[in-house]
Amino acid sequence: MKSSLRITLAIIIALFTIAPTNVEAKTKKLKALIVSGQNNHNWQVSHRVLRLILDQSGLFECDIMLTEPAGGDMSGFTPDFEEYDVVVLDYNGDRWPKQTDEAFVKYVKRGGGVVVYHAADNAFAEWEEFNKIIALGGWEGRNEKSGPYYYLINGIGVLDNGPGAGGSHGQQREYPMHCRNEKHPITKGLPNNWVHGRDEMYDRMRGPANIKDLLYSGYADEKTGGSGREEPLVFTVDYGKARIFHLMLGHCGPTLDNNPAMQCTGFQVLLLRGAEWAATGKVKQAVPADFPTDKRPSFRPAYKAPYDAER
Ligand code: ZN
Repeated sequence: MKSSLRITLAIIIALFTIAPTNVEAKTKKLKALIVSGQNNHNWQVSHRVLRLILDQSGLFECDIMLTEPAGGDMSGFTPDFEEYDVVVLDYNGDRWPKQTDEAFVKYVKRGGGVVVYHAADNAFAEWEEFNKIIALGGWEGRNEKSGPYYYLINGIGVLDNGPGAGGSHGQQREYPMHCRNEKHPITKGLPNNWVHGRDEMYDRMRGPANIKDLLYSGYADEKTGGSGREEPLVFTVDYGKARIFHLMLGHCGPTLDNNPAMQCTGFQVLLLRGAEWAATGKVKQAVPADFPTDKRPSFRPAYKAPYDAER
């Protein structure tokens, strides 16, 4: 072999050796853990949908950890939260083992990322630290002892210590979302008002109410059985160094195909932007062209952006 050819080959081999590392670095995915396995909701569908949305975005790689069914032996439920950039809670059930409670609080306190999805904020009404991590919760015996109601009057957040149950919702419906912070990385560039696909709207939620940035609210119309108040629906939580994204939307339907609240493009985009922010403190995702408008909702039935949706 001529020496020039040998050098050329060596360069080619070197390029092939280096190239995959560069590609890997460019496409390094964020690690997400979805916690599910018990819920008063259809967790069998919801945890799969959450995974589809996160995986199909190309930004995340997901693990799922399911607990034993209700009443089962929870002692084996010991996720290594520290392995992940973000923990997505889709869980409302039996208490975790003490060591898992402690590992979770440690992970959050040291600045871990958390997404609190829909009925995950029903969980653990008696666990004080968990309620600080979610800021507002509902049902499961919550009342004035759990903390005040938090809602908006003329756009200003108020705390209401009046007595009453925590957590309710009116009939499922499509409803407008109202942006309360246009500058936050999660909301930046999204429309201020847009129509969410048919969903429950949580209202009368109670808790320590340590909301950091309220991102979206919605009007819980009395005509459809709501509280008659402007209710917080999407927010971040003030909890030390942690990045906690609380998304009350997304009541899961009976099947993957009949699931309008989670098929809503707005829900999926908020989940993805919120999860990226929780994982990194930034949002690099473009505002997609198929986002809902103030006139109509839009849907991604397969939980994936159309290929031309990203601007
Ligand atoms: Zn629900």
